[in-house]
Amino acid sequence: MTARVGTVTLVGGGPGDPELLTIAAARALASADVVLYDRLAPYESLAELAPRAELIDVGKRPGHHPIAQEDIERLLVAHARAGADVVRLKGGDPFVFGRGSEEVEACRRAGVPARVIPGVTSAIAVPAAAGIPVTHRGVSRLFTVVSGHAPLEPEELEHLAGLGGTIVVLMGVSNLPSISAGLLRCGMAPDTPVAVVERGCSTGQRTTFAELARIRETAERAGIRSPAIVVIGEVVRRARLGDAEAEALLADAVAGPGGGA
Ligand code: SAH
Repeated sequence: MTARVGTVTLVGGGPGDPELLTIAAARALASADVVLYDRLAPYESLAELAPRAELIDVGKRPGHHPIAQEDIERLLVAHARAGADVVRLKGGDPFVFGRGSEEVEACRRAGVPARVIPGVTSAIAVPAAAGIPVTHRGVSRLFTVVSGHAPLEPEELEHLAGLGGTIVVLMGVSNLPSISAGLLRCGMAPDTPVAVVERGCSTGQRTTFAELARIRETAERAGIRSPAIVVIGEVVRRARLGDAEAEALLADAVAGPGGGA
C-alpha cells in the first residue's frame, strides 16, 4: 500500500483583517489538516477559519527567529509526506518579501505538490487603508515597493530619488533614518510628503505624516513600531481627504518651509 502524499498550499492571508482573505484562502483553510502561520497572518480567527486543522505558530519577530526558515520548510515537507493537506498561511501576498518562493521550491525539491493562493499585499492595501492611493492620475504613474530590511545601497537611493513616482517601503522602520537621509542626499525634495502607517487594516492602525526632511524626528517622537509601511511621494497628499493631520501637512507645504502666513 502506498500512503497518499499530502499537499502544500501557500496562502496569502492579506494585511491582517480576516475580511481581506480571498474566498480561495478561506476554502483552503477550511479544508486544511495543518496550518503553519506567521505573526503577520490573520491568525486571531484561525480556529474558526480552519476548524479541523492543527495550528502551528512559526512566527518571527524582528531580530528573533524562533523557527529557522529551513525548519519551516522541513515541517511543510514532513507534514505533507505524512499525508496532510498543509496550508502555509502568510501575511499579505506569499511572493512579496515572504520567502514564499523558497518554500515552494523546497516542496518541489522534495516531490511534494505545492500551489500558491495570492493575497492582498500590505504594500498596496495598507496605504489604501490610510486613504493613500499608490497611483493617482497626474500625480504618480508608478510605484516602487522596496524592502528596507537592509540599508539601501547608494545607487538604489539615487535611482529611487530620481524616479518621481511613489516609493513604498516595507520592513523600513529601523532603517527609516538612513533611507530618508539617503533620499535627501540624492536630491529628493525635502518637502516630499511621507506617511508611515502602522498596523494597517487592523484596529490599532495609526498614520503619522511628515515631510521627508522631518520624518526621522517625527517618527521617533511618535514611537513608530513595526509592522509599518512607509509611503513616500506626492500621493500622500491625497490622504488629506478627511484627514486633519494630512491637511495640516499640506497647508505646511503650501506655506513653504517654516512658513507661517
Ligand atoms: N508578504 C507581505 C510582506 C511581508 S514583509 C505582504 O505582501 O504584505 C513584512 C512587512 O510587511 C512588515 O515589516 C511591514 O512593513 C509590512 N506589513 C505587513 N502587514 C502590515 C500591516 N498590517 N500594517 C503595516 N505594515 C504591514
